[in-house]
Amino acid sequence: MTAKFRVFATCDIGESIDLLRKRGYDVEVYPHPEAPSKSLIIEKVKSGIDALITTLRDPIDAEVLEAAKGCLKVVAQIAVGFDNINRADANRYKIPFTHTADVLTEATAEFAFFMMGVLARKMWTAEHLARDNKWGYWHPYLPFLGDEVTGKTVAVIGTGRIGLAMIKKCTGFDMNILCYDPAYQNHEYVKAVQEVMDLRHTRGIQRDKTWIKYVSLDEALAQADFVSVHVPLLRESESSTPTYHLFNERTLRAMKPTAFLVNTSRGPVVEEVALAKALREKWIAGAALDVYEKEPLPADSPLRDPAIADRCRLMPHFASAGRITRLSTDPNKGMAGRCAQAVIDVLEGNYGGDVTKMPYVVNKEAFAKA
Ligand code: NAD
Repeated sequence: MTAKFRVFATCDIGESIDLLRKRGYDVEVYPHPEAPSKSLIIEKVKSGIDALITTLRDPIDAEVLEAAKGCLKVVAQIAVGFDNINRADANRYKIPFTHTADVLTEATAEFAFFMMGVLARKMWTAEHLARDNKWGYWHPYLPFLGDEVTGKTVAVIGTGRIGLAMIKKCTGFDMNILCYDPAYQNHEYVKAVQEVMDLRHTRGIQRDKTWIKYVSLDEALAQADFVSVHVPLLRESESSTPTYHLFNERTLRAMKPTAFLVNTSRGPVVEEVALAKALREKWIAGAALDVYEKEPLPADSPLRDPAIADRCRLMPHFASAGRITRLSTDPNKGMAGRCAQAVIDVLEGNYGGDVTKMPYVVNKEAFAKA
């Protein structure tokens, strides 16, 4: 029996691969944990595969799509961010690409929330004290104190899916919330959160009244104790409000010296040289990063400076890395399941074969009828 469709996956996405194989697909999985070379991806698409499963590590541009011409029907990315895929090129070659929005929203938001606590309560330094046998006494304020998260003010930069989930989590910690998003403002959500805050206060669940509002970026930075970033990576050519180096010398200096920055969005949103300087010179109190300008983080990154180690937490692009979130075969729960379903939708012509109706396709505009 000849296989129905041929698929190349640039990484293993677990049992969701079996799901495709059970449908008769011929699926080849790149066997190594590191990303394959671009030339291998080109070789695979040239060989006539129908679907390509990608991660954010794989550059998908005109060169790859040109090699794929005539055969490749879908690029299915296992991530919500797709800054590695050139949307204009995909549109030109009329190849739909899909992503895994929604299923990673809560996991990513909770990770960002936890990073606020790790930073403010100095958990890394505190654990070192215990582990390195330097914990000699209990004392009211020695050797150091941390800052509470409860009752503080958080700025949520980008109020899309993950930003709104972050707001929901911060509400549970009696925080005031400053929202900034130049492109999408969900006033209904903000109004509902304010109602929840008011109810919690009037029913005695939280002691102090709290508030939530949309403000300008400068207002958000000037007032926040925590700044949590939830934007896509958008370069100058892609948006009138690009996010590339949104956090730079100017915006870092605009934060309070007691404030903490958390970035679980994309690395190039933060200019790392500026951040390292901000931490060294104490323009801000600390930062936790999950993503970097170059990944994996280079050995000579200024962020590895031992002089800032106590206030700079470095995570290995890990925010969505929950078991169910990453690997569930259920497209309503897992990135892997959603990715496989996206391949099935396109190759098997679900939704009457209308790409614009397929829920996980990103570049629907390329297929809209005039
Ligand atoms: P989304 O598209 O729902 O939300 C992004 C929001 O950012 C939108 O509302 C948009 O209007 C806003 N925005 C755009 N430009 C802005 C600017 N200049 N300033 C402020 N806001 C701006 O996306 P999402 O599902 O919430 O995901 C956000 C990003 O998080 C993804 O694009 C991805 O890069 C990143 N992410 C990282 C991880 C991780 O593992 N670290 C996991 C999931 C998502």
